[in-house]
Amino acid sequence: MTAAAAAGLAARFVGRFGRAPQVAWWAPGRVNLIGEHTDYNDGFVLPLAIPYGVAAAVAARPDGVLRVASAQVPGAPVEVAVEALAPGAVSGWAAYIVGVVWALRAEGHPVGGADVLVDGDVPLGAGLSSSAALGCAVAAALADRGGLALPRPELARLAQRSENAFVGAPTGIMDQSAALLATAGHALFLDTRTLAAEQVPLDLPGHHLALLVVDTRAPHALVDGAYADRRRTCAAAARTLGVPALRDVPAGGLDAALAALADPVARRRVRHVVTENDRVLRTVDLLRRGDLRAVGPLLTASHESLRDDYEVSVPRLDVAVAAALAAGALGARVTGGGFGGCVVVLVAAAAVPSLAAAVADAFAAHGWDRPRPFTVLPTAGAHPLDVSG
Ligand code: ADP
Ligand code: MG
Repeated sequence: MTAAAAAGLAARFVGRFGRAPQVAWWAPGRVNLIGEHTDYNDGFVLPLAIPYGVAAAVAARPDGVLRVASAQVPGAPVEVAVEALAPGAVSGWAAYIVGVVWALRAEGHPVGGADVLVDGDVPLGAGLSSSAALGCAVAAALADRGGLALPRPELARLAQRSENAFVGAPTGIMDQSAALLATAGHALFLDTRTLAAEQVPLDLPGHHLALLVVDTRAPHALVDGAYADRRRTCAAAARTLGVPALRDVPAGGLDAALAALADPVARRRVRHVVTENDRVLRTVDLLRRGDLRAVGPLLTASHESLRDDYEVSVPRLDVAVAAALAAGALGARVTGGGFGGCVVVLVAAAAVPSLAAAVADAFAAHGWDRPRPFTVLPTAGAHPLDVSG
């Protein structure tokens, strides 16, 4: 975020609260390159942070009152006494902010009243994790203001706890990890069981490649129920197979695992998770060797697995992927939980305009809203903003 943008954030804070902010942090959204629906199976993910994010500005209050506002939400700030905080006390967008204060306090950190303003440019609910960008920016700003020496993995866990227990969204640790741990020019290879993290080089310009994200703007429907349903199926299959989590089924053990499962739906879900973990490992291997182009077919295989075995795709995602591949993409897949949101496309940099046009044409032919394409480069995770004026 530029100095001018930080000054704008400070000015909006004054406009909302009539006083200056004391600290501010910015945290990015993310695109998951590969490793979808693996995180709640203790598996592997490979996200990268994107140059779109959420900034959070904070000033402490001595009266124990928490006032939260968003530049994206008109109206008066939401107000609540920190002493009264408990899951359910606040709902809607404000819960994503208030929940972080709750999580910090629940773990004994001395966080009191505050004025908090957030301002972001990650499209909401598009699978680019505006929610984690928001939670992590708020967590980092509050920790900074309170002088709490919390390491970044700890901030990630607290932001996840807020989203899980206060907002009520049962998400894994991937999004918060990307927002806080990512480094520029790298994807973040994360083992969601051990939380071991490795920065894997992803030098797109050096290979004349681009990552094109296309927001399909497909309306989300039934997302929460379908997500919970798949989590349950995976957990039940792991119990049947006698392993702590599906991560413990190696690619070489897939056939035996499938033979041990009676339910065809469970078999498809397990096949996705096991093959997806394997695709992440193979992708990481290729990136370590600098063979970026060879990653393309793994992305496409991931999409097919999510479409056919995990059944989380929708027509707009499939059409976007098919149009991208027909226009020469090296690989393409849905990114995020599915049922709408974005696809990510690996493509020769020179082909970005024609490829974006091809996807737009395909959508026009179906009479769908114009998709929003944009390229991303792997960006560094959260950083402080200078709002001292
Ligand atoms: P995603 O994380 O993929 O964008 P989620 O449904 O997990 O989708 O989170 C989106 C929600 O996060 C929004 O509906 C809103 O409640 C909250 N949110 C994210 N960014 C902002 C913002 N800048 N201002 C207010 N609320 C936000
Ligand atoms: Mg989210």
